[in-house]
Amino acid sequence: MARFEAIDGDITSLVVDAIVNAANTSLLGGGGVDGAIHRAAGPELLAACRRLDGCATGDAKATPGFRLPAKWIFHAVGPIWMGGDHHEDDLLASCYRRCLELARDHEAKSVGFPAISTGVYGFPSARAAGIAFATAQREAELKGVEVVKFVCFDKKTLSIYDDLLQSLDSQGG
Ligand code: ADP
Repeated sequence: MARFEAIDGDITSLVVDAIVNAANTSLLGGGGVDGAIHRAAGPELLAACRRLDGCATGDAKATPGFRLPAKWIFHAVGPIWMGGDHHEDDLLASCYRRCLELARDHEAKSVGFPAISTGVYGFPSARAAGIAFATAQREAELKGVEVVKFVCFDKKTLSIYDDLLQSLDSQGG
């Protein structure tokens, strides 16, 4: 059974096999968590991302972690929230699923996720957390991932994930 944790803090300092970046389709850096990851990983990351030739929404691509403690970075492109009728839920679930597939391919047993799409991309936090959590619960173990950490950058997001984890506990999971 995979283990799930919600923690607060900066994902760039997380000691895990792989962290996930909330990137954009260019993969050439941006604000928010993307900017923080590029600053912390160093300029080699941008050079590696240039070679990936972008990424579709709902998909993810891997690079090394360079100067990060994490060995790998999985760059996922979340959907921009457009009201909920533009396949946003499916595209967000696909990001989490693709990252767990990359974890399997790279033999990453521990993976840290930020709350993809909930910053500049405007996806409602509680809805996004429900999708993230359900997808990880369904897929992590199948992909050989032992620990999934949801890294929350604010107290509201942390309390949403804490509630989801508690309801899992109370179901005996
Ligand atoms: P998106 O464009 O996918 O919405 P953002 O980077 O704007 O991506 O935000 C995604 C989430 O990452 C937000 O919840 C934001 O608060 C959070 N975040 C920003 N910086 C960090 C960081 N250093 N570590 C973890 N989470 C972060």
